Amino acid sequence: MSDFYKINIVTHDIYRLHDTSGDKYHPEKPGRITSVVEHLKKGMLSTNLNFIEANCPEREWILKIHNNNYLLRFEEACLAGKEYLAHPDNRISYNSFEAAFYSCGSGLTSIDYVEKQTDGVFFCLSRPPGHHSETSLALGFCFINNVAVAAKYWQEKYNRERIFVLDFDAHHGNGIQASFEEDPSVFYASIHEHPTFSFPGTGYADDNGSGKGIGATLNIPLKPGSGDKQVLEIMDTTIYDALERFKPDAIIVAAGFDAHIDDDMSGLAFSTRLYGEIGMRLFVMAKKFCDGRIISILEGGYNINALCNSIETYLAGISIKTGE
Ligand SMILES: [Zn+2]
Repeated sequence: MSDFYKINIVTHDIYRLHDTSGDKYHPEKPGRITSVVEHLKKGMLSTNLNFIEANCPEREWILKIHNNNYLLRFEEACLAGKEYLAHPDNRISYNSFEAAFYSCGSGLTSIDYVEKQTDGVFFCLSRPPGHHSETSLALGFCFINNVAVAAKYWQEKYNRERIFVLDFDAHHGNGIQASFEEDPSVFYASIHEHPTFSFPGTGYADDNGSGKGIGATLNIPLKPGSGDKQVLEIMDTTIYDALERFKPDAIIVAAGFDAHIDDDMSGLAFSTRLYGEIGMRLFVMAKKFCDGRIISILEGGYNINALCNSIETYLAGISIKTGE
């Protein structure tokens, strides 16, 4: 008997070809994916895993968020052998444009499976990440905003009108917020290190949307050193209440693991165990508020050991059979 539901890992080999090694210290590297796959296959969830290949999304879906000129500039830079897009952080290689498309495709593929009522939970093990990228802007290793495109896709292809995004990456997802700050149909909640101390310097608590979208953005900045105690309290009160009020049709998790205490990309101090606790709560909340419609999309997480353990623990939490 298995103690876990099926865990669908949506990924693609092409993610390896987004090569950032021109900067040998670049933290967003192919090993982030390959190490996690190896780790999961050897670990306690191995018999529950089901690997699914991500499809390439139609360009029209990416254009819901990004500007076509920006996509052309990105593609051109890759094909021309440029080293980065807009800033040296956003290192590129010949295949990066295609990899970014397929990275975005992992979310859309997951949504298709969820809507076909496929068993189990869905985790997009994809790169490059997306939550910092904006309409015409590559930022913070991100080129195409995977979560934002997925939210639009879920709304427009399947008429799931109200999408709740929870982002627990250490950094504020400025690109997701910018995509929906005037849109009351997509709720963006982000738990991140305080912008005074952290890239990209956005996500203050009083920033709660604009125009018709006021109230559908919820920024929860944490002081450096914050960890499990603060986050669990936020999950059980602020996030729970926001979900209850918003009444989502689906939840998308921007799942970044760089707030781990061993990850030096932030001053936060999340334990490995915390990710399991977050996963368990999300499973319960998704069931309660939106009939279990939830997908998770990888964002950051750069200490490979911490990333492997944190993803495994998160997956165990979100897929555990509670015996109801
Ligand atoms: Zn991050």
